[in-house]
Amino acid sequence: MIRHLLSGADLDAATATLILDTAAEMATVAGREVKKLPALRGRTVVNLFYEDSTRTRISFEAAAKRLSADVINFSAKGSSVTKGESLKDTALTLQAMGADAVVVRHPASGAPHRLADWVDGSVVNAGDGTHEHPTQALLDAYTMRARLGRLAGLHVAVVGDVLHSRVARSNVLLLSTLGAKVTLVGPPTLIPVDIAQALAPGIDVSYDLDAVLPNVDVVMMLRVQRERMTDSYFPSAREYARRYGLDAPRMRRLPEHAIVMHPGPMNRGMEITPEVADSPRSTIVEQVANGVSVRMAVLYLLLGGNNL
Ligand code: ASP
Repeated sequence: MIRHLLSGADLDAATATLILDTAAEMATVAGREVKKLPALRGRTVVNLFYEDSTRTRISFEAAAKRLSADVINFSAKGSSVTKGESLKDTALTLQAMGADAVVVRHPASGAPHRLADWVDGSVVNAGDGTHEHPTQALLDAYTMRARLGRLAGLHVAVVGDVLHSRVARSNVLLLSTLGAKVTLVGPPTLIPVDIAQALAPGIDVSYDLDAVLPNVDVVMMLRVQRERMTDSYFPSAREYARRYGLDAPRMRRLPEHAIVMHPGPMNRGMEITPEVADSPRSTIVEQVANGVSVRMAVLYLLLGGNNL
């Protein structure tokens, strides 16, 4: 097993499949009255969040607690980070406290990689800038496999703000490793020309959502990340929604079996309408539930847990 999970590229097909299979076992715990396993008793997991998060932070906390680990939640607000403490000094503090795993979210791409040089424990990237978010890709793959029965041969459209999306990057890497075909769809301003080839061979790009929809098994809508936009990438929110938003008429272009995904948080009415988000084809709530099982599997395997 690998020591850190920093990128979707850290996972070969066998390791990724082991994580998904372990997550399926972990999911059975969620159905029990006592949702707890003793596997990580006595181990310490630190959640180090320098950027806002709802789902990911709660999900990692629930995952570590279900495995009986001791959990320390550190958020940059209210800590010495606001006094200017560097990531390195924070890392040394965690090291002194004996953290077995550090789950880190940071606005700077590459921060988890630096952290991995400074601590002895395992580092899990919970989102670094516009770079990667590997556990999101794993929970997305888990959800696709659970709904559609396989990953190899699936055709997945990843739609929208690819430029700023760490979710897109990690998904492209992982899905390619697992044998799915990916088409990136969005306005040319939000799909860097060389991104598809730089990430993995065989990735297609399209600027025409309506043309792609009838041919896919999965459509993954991305949030338009206005907080990361330094320029105007499209004329208006309305124009964006008109060309690239998923509404009910567009959803009807999908094959019968196809599913609609979104990592959250959603801009309802922009990249996805409420009608689509709340439809039976949408897996958005399942993705959140699956996130806990997948993160349990990641922590369990990275920390070499036993006594499942
Ligand atoms: N929650 C995801 C992330 O942290 C997706 C998003 O924010 O749009 O990257």
